[in-house]
Amino acid sequence: MKIAVLGAGAMGSMLGAYLQLGGADVTLLVRRKELADKLTSPGIVMRSYSNADGEKTEVGPIPMKAAVDCNGLGEMDAVLVMVKGCDTKSALEGAKPIIGSNTKVITLQNGIGNTDIIEESVNKDNIYYGCVNMSAIMSAPAVLDTGLFGDVNVAFGSVVKGDEQKKFGDELTAILTAGGLKAAYSDDIDVEVWYKLLVNIAVNAGCGIVRLRGGEAGNDQDFTLLAVDMLKEAIAVGMASGVKLDFNYFMTHILPVARKTSGLHYPSMAQDMLMKKAPTEIEFINGAIERLGKKAGIPTPVNTTISRLVRTIERNYDKQYKDKTGKTGPSFKVKIAEKFCKGCGYCIKYCPKKVLSAEDALNAKGYVKVKVANEADCIGCLSCSTVCPEAAITVIKED
Ligand code: SF4
Ligand code: SF4
Repeated sequence: MKIAVLGAGAMGSMLGAYLQLGGADVTLLVRRKELADKLTSPGIVMRSYSNADGEKTEVGPIPMKAAVDCNGLGEMDAVLVMVKGCDTKSALEGAKPIIGSNTKVITLQNGIGNTDIIEESVNKDNIYYGCVNMSAIMSAPAVLDTGLFGDVNVAFGSVVKGDEQKKFGDELTAILTAGGLKAAYSDDIDVEVWYKLLVNIAVNAGCGIVRLRGGEAGNDQDFTLLAVDMLKEAIAVGMASGVKLDFNYFMTHILPVARKTSGLHYPSMAQDMLMKKAPTEIEFINGAIERLGKKAGIPTPVNTTISRLVRTIERNYDKQYKDKTGKTGPSFKVKIAEKFCKGCGYCIKYCPKKVLSAEDALNAKGYVKVKVANEADCIGCLSCSTVCPEAAITVIKED
C-alpha cells in the first residue's frame, strides 16, 4: 500500500515508521528539507523507555522516503493527515496531486472536527478517522522518544460504514499490526475518539495556561477540580451528540493510563503556547465542546472560559509579559559535567536554540570544551541530554 503522511512531526513520523515496518511504501511529507534529509538518511530511530519489562529498547535507524512537497510522488492509496487541525485545510490543498478519486484519507489528529474539514475536499466514502494511544517527542531530528499505551494503539473507523470501508480498514489494520502496533478498525469509533478527546480536554489547554507539565498539574487539587468540571460538560455534550460516554469508566480506566504517560511532558498545546508561540488546536478540543454545546443548548461555561483564555494568549504572544531576560516561558539551568564530556559536539548540533557552543579551549580531559553560551534561550526540550552519549548534560527547570 502506497501511503503518504502529511505532517511528519513526532507522531506522524512514528506512525510512518510503523507502517513501513508493516510493509507499506511510505513517504513522509515535512516542511524542512534538513529534516527530510535526516529522515531519509540515516533514518528514524525510535527509543522507548517504558516497555512492559521496564527495559529500554531502540528500533532503527529506519531509512524513510521523505519530501517537502508532493511533486512527482504520484497518486497514493492512502494519505494519513497528522498536521495540527488548524493546518488541515492548507495541507490537503497542497496534497491535491497525490489524492485521487480512490485515495483513502485518514485522520488520527487530536480532537474532533477534522473530518468536517476533510469532507470539504474529499468524498465521504474515502474518509477514515480515529485516535492513537501513543506518545512521541522528536528529541533530535529523526530521533523519537516514544511510548505505546492502552489496549489498542491505533483505533480507527470510517465516516461511511460499508463493506468497502471495512475491507480497507482490515488491510490497514493488518499493516499496522505487522509493523508492531495493536490496531483495530471499528464501526463504533466515536466512543474511542471521544475518550481520547476527554484526555486532551482535561490536560492540554490547562497545562499551557498554568505552565506545568501534565504530571505536575495533575498533582494539584484545584487543577484536578477544574479538569473534572470541563470533563462533565464535555461528557454532557458528547452524550447529546449520541456518543455513549461513562464518566466513572473514564475516571477509573482511561485517565489513569493517560496520567502515567503524560507526567514528564508538556502536552503539545502547552508546547505551542509556551515554547513555540504557535497556533494551537484549541478549536478542535475545548473549543469544539463550546461549539457543540451551543448547538445542543448545553451550557459549557468552563470549556468556554478556557478556550477564550487560550485564544487571548495565542493572539497576543508578542505582547506577553517578559522578565528581564526577555523570556515569557519557564527558565532552565543547563549543566555540563566536564569530567564525562568527550567533546563530540552532538549537543551543540542538536540544540534548536543554539544554547551551547564549542570553546576555543580544551577541557580537563583534553577534549573540546563545550560551554553553555546562551542559557536564557533554553526551552527545556532535552535534545542535548538525550543525544549526549556520555550522559554529561542535565537540564533542570527552575521554579
Ligand atoms: S534543553 Fe536547552 S540546551 Fe538542551 S537542546 Fe534544548 S534548548 Fe538546547
Ligand atoms: S554531547 Fe555530551 S559528550 Fe558530546 S560534547 Fe555534548 S556534553 Fe560533551
